[in-house]
Order: sequence, then structure tokens, then C-alpha cells
Amino acid sequence: MSKVIVYPLNKFLRSKDEEKSTEQIEMRKILLHTTEGIIAFDRDGKIALINPAAKKLLKISPEDNSFEDIFYKYDKNINMEKIIYLDNWTSTTEQVSVDGINLNVLFSPFRDKKDIPAGVIAFIPDIIEHERLDNMRKEFVADVSHELKTPITSIMGYSDTLLEGEYDEKTQKEFLGVIASEARRMAKLVTDLLELSRIDSNRKRTKKESFDLGKLVKESQAKLAIEIKKKNHQVENFVTADVPPVFADKDDIQRVVLNILTNSIKYTPDGGLIKIYVGFVYNDAYIKIIDNGIGIPEDDLNRIFERFYRVDKARSREFGGSGLGLSIAKEILDKNGGSIDIKSKVGEGTEVVIKVPTKE
Ligand code: ADP
Repeated sequence: MSKVIVYPLNKFLRSKDEEKSTEQIEMRKILLHTTEGIIAFDRDGKIALINPAAKKLLKISPEDNSFEDIFYKYDKNINMEKIIYLDNWTSTTEQVSVDGINLNVLFSPFRDKKDIPAGVIAFIPDIIEHERLDNMRKEFVADVSHELKTPITSIMGYSDTLLEGEYDEKTQKEFLGVIASEARRMAKLVTDLLELSRIDSNRKRTKKESFDLGKLVKESQAKLAIEIKKKNHQVENFVTADVPPVFADKDDIQRVVLNILTNSIKYTPDGGLIKIYVGFVYNDAYIKIIDNGIGIPEDDLNRIFERFYRVDKARSREFGGSGLGLSIAKEILDKNGGSIDIKSKVGEGTEVVIKVPTKE
């Protein structure tokens, strides 16, 4: 257990209620909310302090009030006296198995003001959370490999076919078209992955500046003019007169707007209507993009910001989607002090609201 926890906790336990400083009260709040379990036992082995995470991890019931109640059922050798006196004031780790999950509990003795042994603090690392993160990492690697393998297989298949046979110009062009579009899909995936990795490693610095959000929306719309025309969509743009300049990284925000607008174009059948509103509420400027496309089922809505999450993998892949766009958008907005919200109804359309701060 780190000194960071033991020392302030020690101080907290020793002080009387009226002596507790704001700092210590803050400490209590941290204990309440941390996912690591922490229990302090007094000299008699009674619980002096316990946080909700400890109760959950060790499955502690209201009848468990002491060191014995909690730990003897796992192993009679976990003994408080031993921890306090025999271990020369170092911490000891004991393994307990709760419903088949092994937890390494760290015990550390503490002393009172007169330097007399006052009790023991047990620290239970949240391995369930660690395991969850580890699984997420494994899933991520599997997803990336799968996403890269699909276009590679297709590129190899089509190029081998072209090399091995004699085809007329029309067929050759058709095959080359598939190769080019699969290569583009891979390039987009790699660009998205690099962007995520830059965000994750904090290598990406935000260069914040003041700029006009209405102008940025118009520029983004112009960049997508070809896609809009191809699908014969009508795009209407409404800017409220007095939107103050926003303060954020302009390239970042443009990336988000392009992504949301591209989604509206992609997931709306030909001849759709896309409305873009730019406005101002409290301290934030906002962009609202509403389409009358296919919509997103309610069950998928709360997972839509997860990496690689797509409502319908086959359909999204057909549009060149990687399922990374919205997760990147969310992380970019978090970094810039903004936010993103999505409402949608299947068959009716989708509404995305992006908020960007106007103050430094
Ligand atoms: P992708 O690159 O696959 O489009 P995103 O992260 O941008 O990935 O979006 C995740 C999924 O959310 C998409 O695969 C799509 O199914 C759904 N989606 C996003 N925007 C819309 C929209 N405007 N209308 C319908 N579905 C959408």
C-alpha cells in the first residue's frame, strides 16, 4: 500500500472529529469513491473505517464487524496480532479467494500519536477493474487485427486474380476500383488509430484559439460538397445572429464536424434533408446536425461512443466506416472542454449536438 494512502489515512483515524481538516474530509470523499477497497481496524480488531469498494470486493455483510469476522473465514493464519507485532512494521500481503476470484489483500499496521500500535489498514486492489481493462485491451487488439485483415484479404484476392488471368478493360477497372477503395479504407483506419493513439498518449497538444463556429461549419460543408451532391441531399444551414467566437483547437473541432456531417450523409438514403443549426446557450456555442436518415436503435445509442462500435457492422463497413469516428469525436471534445450528445429514432433520423466553450 502506498504511503500516499497510509499516512493521510493514519492522520485521519487519529484525529478527533472536531479536529478533522477540510483536507481530511476530502480524503474521506476519495475513500468513498475509489474502486480500491480500504478498511481500517482499531487495536481491538473492530472496523474503524470501511469504504463501499471494500464491502463489495470482499462481499462483507452487515454482521461482519471485526477483523476476525472478515478474514478468518478465508484463512485462520491471517492474524492481526501477527501483522502488528511480528512483521517488524512492514506491510504483508495475503491472498483471499472470494467466490473464486483471488484478491491480494495488503495489510499495513499504523500507530497512534504516542507511537503505540493503533491498528491495521487493509488495502484490496480492484483486480476486477484491472481485469476489465485488460479484457478491453485484448478486444481492441482483436478488433484492429480483424478490421485490417478484411481489406487486406480483399486486396490480395483481387490483385492475384488480375495477375493470373486475362480480363477485358471493364473488368480490370472494376477490380482496380475495389482494390483502391479497400486501400482507402485501410488508410482511414490507420489514420483513425494514429489519432486515437495520439489522444491516448497525450502527445496531441490542443492549440486553442478563438474562431467563428458558423464559418467553420460552412467550410466543412463545402469540403463535403461532392459527397452531398452524389447522394442528392439537401443541406440547410441556420446560424443564429450573435454566436460569440468559440475557444478551442480549430482543427480538432473541424475533424468532429466533418465526422458528424459525413455520418449524416452516409446514413441518410439518397435525397435526404440535413439541417445544421449554429447557436449559443449559457457559455457554450453549439452545432446541431439533424438528418432524416435511417436512425440508430435505442439499445445501441448508449454504446455508440465505444471504439469500434457499429450498429450494423456489414452496413457500416459498406460505407467505409471503422466505428472509430464517434469515439474520436467524444475524446476530442472532452479535451477541448466541449461535449457531444446524440438523439435518434429508427426510420426517422438522428440529431447530434456538439457544444464548444466560448471562454478560455
Ligand atoms: P463509422 O466510421 O462506422 O461511421 P462512427 O463511430 O462514426 O463509425 O459511428 C458509429 C456507428 O453509429 C455507425 O457505424 C452507424 O451505425 C451509427 N451512426 C452514426 N451516425 C449516424 C447517423 N447520423 N445516422 C444513423 N446511424 C449513425
